[in-house]
Amino acid sequence: MPQYLSTQGRVPPVSLQQALVDGLAPDGGLYVPDTVPPLPSNWRDASSFAALAQEVLAPWLENEISGYEAALRDALDFPVPLVALENAAWDGVHVLELFHGPTLSFKDFGARTMARLVAGLRSDTTDPLTILVATSGDTGSAVADGFAGLPGIRAVLLFPAGQVSEVQQRQLVAPRAGVTALRVEGTFDDCQRLVKAAFSDPELKALTLSSANSINIGRLLPQMLFYVEAVRQGGFGEVVFSTPSGNLGNLTGGVLASLAGLPVRRFIAAHNANRFFPDTLAGCEVEMGASVRTLSNAMDVGAPSNFERLGALLGDRLSAMIWGTSVSDDETLAAMRRVYEATGYVACPHTAVGLEGALRYRAATGDRTPVVVMATAHPAKFPEVVEQALGVAPDVPETLARLPRAEGHAITIPPTPAALCAILLA
Ligand SMILES: *Cc1c(COP(=O)(O)O)cnc(C)c1O
Repeated sequence: MPQYLSTQGRVPPVSLQQALVDGLAPDGGLYVPDTVPPLPSNWRDASSFAALAQEVLAPWLENEISGYEAALRDALDFPVPLVALENAAWDGVHVLELFHGPTLSFKDFGARTMARLVAGLRSDTTDPLTILVATSGDTGSAVADGFAGLPGIRAVLLFPAGQVSEVQQRQLVAPRAGVTALRVEGTFDDCQRLVKAAFSDPELKALTLSSANSINIGRLLPQMLFYVEAVRQGGFGEVVFSTPSGNLGNLTGGVLASLAGLPVRRFIAAHNANRFFPDTLAGCEVEMGASVRTLSNAMDVGAPSNFERLGALLGDRLSAMIWGTSVSDDETLAAMRRVYEATGYVACPHTAVGLEGALRYRAATGDRTPVVVMATAHPAKFPEVVEQALGVAPDVPETLARLPRAEGHAITIPPTPAALCAILLA
């Protein structure tokens, strides 16, 4: 049973229960497990994704969260298809579709799982819990959906005004029980800064706060499953993963899976123009900075918080395990077009960054190991970009078609801790 250490190393290790409720460690660090339990020996024989989830996560959850089996079953009840791209140029490239959950992005896995684990922990207390989450688009709606209606929990979403797509906005502001959406007049990094500041704000001491950002270990653990599931379905001996990345939470899930024994040859960290991580991997001295806006806006992160975790988990093996690349908006559109014309596959702009990363990796290394690209969002979440790239509109799944077009219930605030504080205490 792992304990959780802070990347800042200034507080004693804590249990999973504590790490789930804290979100961020009290010294400002991120929690990382002190050991990684190996995959169960029979993981390749699991009969379904849900069965695999039970097997793989049991050593992480079994002594700490009672009823975790039911929580996982309830949270992870949608399909995860692995699609092989049938074309010579894309031979051996697969796409793992992580976008068939209720809000159509991979964030549903982590958010729904974490919500149910946290709700289970809180079942014997009357002290209400406030979950704060900064979102560049997809996290907010996944978290809102995950926590909506759970007793004793209020979720507060912060999203950057004018920097999420129309569909994302509709998903974010849809009225939900126990959820408040805040439209912040600033960037995603401002939203993230406000959440961090709230945790150390003396005026908020009376509130029990937690975070559902990818900094919360409860979101990371289920993200291991993508990687294991891809290898189970594909029956691969060894595999390369290409992960469209922003805050590096998805990729950190993959690294945990590889430390648990999954046969991963290399990870590709596929970034948009926010290139801190690829530049760092290439050995450049770069500083984290402000985020740049791109077409793959859920990856517009200038200062990826999970970078600290990757460093703690991999140490000096970081650049041996992870190959990085940065894809511009024009190159993203070209990749969407190229895969569509060759195979008929319609990729969202984030997934396209991963696809382009896969081709570049192969060209740069000559490595012909099968590649699995994480398809992180449904293309219908980004209809304008899909139309711009392909000249056709993506098919709209029923979950989206049902959402009202109304403005919803978001409150607009300036990007200041005082403004957030006033809302939380109101
Ligand atoms: C959040 C998100 C990403 C980036 O994931 P990280 O874990 O932040 O690296 C990529 N694509 C989509 C569609 C997302 O919603």
